[in-house]
Amino acid sequence: MRITVIGTGYLGAVHAACMADIGHEVLGVDVDVAKIEALAAGRPPFYEPGLSDVLGRTVGSGALRFTTSLAEAAEFGDVHFVCVGTPQLPGSHAADMTYVNAAVDGLGRHLTRPTLVVGKSTVPVGTAAALAARLADIAPVGADAEVAWNPEFLREGFAVQDTLRPDRLVVGVRSSEADALLRAVYEPMLAVGTPYICTDLATAELVKVSANAFLATKISFINAIADVCDAAGGDVVTLADAIGHDERIGRRFLAAGLGFGGGCLPKDIRAFMARAKELGVSDALGFLAEVDEINMRRRRRVVELARELVGGSLLGQNVAVLGAAFKPDSDDVRDSPALNVAAAIQLQGANVRVHDPEAIDNARAVFPSLDYTREVAKACERADVVLHLTEWQEYRDLDPDTLAQVVSHPRMLDGRNALPVDRWRAANWTVRGLGRGRALV
Ligand code: NAD
Repeated sequence: MRITVIGTGYLGAVHAACMADIGHEVLGVDVDVAKIEALAAGRPPFYEPGLSDVLGRTVGSGALRFTTSLAEAAEFGDVHFVCVGTPQLPGSHAADMTYVNAAVDGLGRHLTRPTLVVGKSTVPVGTAAALAARLADIAPVGADAEVAWNPEFLREGFAVQDTLRPDRLVVGVRSSEADALLRAVYEPMLAVGTPYICTDLATAELVKVSANAFLATKISFINAIADVCDAAGGDVVTLADAIGHDERIGRRFLAAGLGFGGGCLPKDIRAFMARAKELGVSDALGFLAEVDEINMRRRRRVVELARELVGGSLLGQNVAVLGAAFKPDSDDVRDSPALNVAAAIQLQGANVRVHDPEAIDNARAVFPSLDYTREVAKACERADVVLHLTEWQEYRDLDPDTLAQVVSHPRMLDGRNALPVDRWRAANWTVRGLGRGRALV
């Protein structure tokens, strides 16, 4: 099939490459010329494991091309996937729909034959129906430019495998023709038994935000319990292991620590609350405000713990921060808890040096005043405390004995409760975590 992908960021670039990899002819579109040039040369404009291979393969074979022209996209595609950003609107909890509207308007003006426009961006419920009306007005082909919604569940760091082998496909459609087209797009996934849930537009939109709201709630739940563990002397890691054995609960997403960030969960739960308010059901999602608050408190808690570890004042202290990306295996620093903590600690007068295996360039663009290094040992040189804030495998594999030789004081704050604590303690490090109670004393 001939497919276009409009918006080639973390979601769209991976989607475009994977659609080409499963046999479609794909045209990726973006307004960012530098991004399009990189992609057209087969170079991922961001770090995502496995993307370089798929991109190289599909660009090389000619199955995947890129353009900045929506007119060309309209001419080329039978199915158009909209993957542009929906960030938080400044000064509000709501989603900024400027990019989605601009993409759909820009494409719609050139649609002269029946076509399917499929939203993949995460949007407030009701968006798809509104866009369908908007498109019917704008497109020369009128209502034969149909809208469907196909929310995306990929995880950065696993985006390629999640796109090629999704755990489910969800589509919201208004016609059996749209359903048939989407089944044809995803035929290789359906052939291996991937669950395919076909529903209405509103349900499809709500599936995505509900999934993210649930995941955010699960993380904040265990982080709230971590605070109780700290107060009562319990150990949240053992507790999570124990409750996680219950299949109804499950162990995943029960990692107490610095909490969630990134370009999705925080803004998605806020946009969900904002939309619920518009729908007159803000009480229904009142708990999400607490989920958000618990999460933001993590960042303050880590700053407090760091201050305690260095004896009460961060002024003039050397602080090594391991991790800048919002999660491992990504260079994405949008709403990164690690960077927020690094900046807050610098504000308290500390000398902060940040390391990350992939995210330094992006981090520097957002927080230029922090000091960055590409070597862990350099970040830790003469450190009074080391903060482990993004759980890259590289940090788990560090040798505590070697690192102890470069720091001023062997003090580790494991903000992700992910390090092999016994090894660090055996190498004479003082280790603190969140919710570890007496486990680390
Ligand atoms: P992103 O910022 O990385 O990418 C968005 C891209 O859209 C950018 O390259 C931007 O230049 C481009 N763009 C903006 N306006 C455009 C226009 N008018 N025409 C063409 N391109 C345009 O964002 P992202 O992380 O890829 O997220 C995109 C959407 O997917 C969001 O709604 C997000 O919530 C959702 N989503 C993201 C992920 C993820 O892991 N990143 C997962 C699931 C869903």
